[in-house]
Amino acid sequence: EVTKVNEVFDQVNNDFKMIHPEFTFIVDDDTDGDIYVQIYRNHLEQVLVILIDNAIKYSKDRKEIHTSISTTPSTVNIAVQDFGEGISSEDISKVFNRFYRVDKARSRDKGGNGLGLSIAHRLIEAYHGDISIESSLGYGSIFQIKLPILKNKQDDDTEENSADLDK
Ligand code: ATP
Ligand code: MG
Repeated sequence: EVTKVNEVFDQVNNDFKMIHPEFTFIVDDDTDGDIYVQIYRNHLEQVLVILIDNAIKYSKDRKEIHTSISTTPSTVNIAVQDFGEGISSEDISKVFNRFYRVDKARSRDKGGNGLGLSIAHRLIEAYHGDISIESSLGYGSIFQIKLPILKNKQDDDTEENSADLDK
């Protein structure tokens, strides 16, 4: 399935703006629209929901989320930034593991299974993309995903180009 990434980006941002009016969302779209990627719309939506849900859940006093979408000649890059508790460099390497949660006692009252990021990671890898974290303890985090842009929408719209999720 071919998905217009900027449209899903807008939709998920708008959904979260409605559900969390206590947050300020700063949305930065550097594209000129019409960015297509070979990905199921639901999968992309799920990844963005996981990242923005975390950004909200792990924010503290500063209730502000920055999201951005931009392109390079070959990729589309989406970033989700919060100004919350951050993740130590030691934990950064572990948060993509299934069921891993930083500081179990602290995160328990926030709910969650520690599955969100492992699912996001698995999905993005299946589509030959990349997901990375920049974070600093106490200052916040930036999660970034990169996905290969579909150059010619028609040419690539075939079955064998869909992601191989069952390996
Ligand atoms: P679930 O997403 O399954 O509801 P979860 O949010 O605990 O539960 P993940 O989304 O996989 O699980 O995140 C794993 C852990 O990484 C979290 O428990 C939290 O400790 C840490 N983490 C994730 N995102 C952030 C963030 N934006 N800021 C600070 N810590 C984060
Ligand atoms: Mg989560």
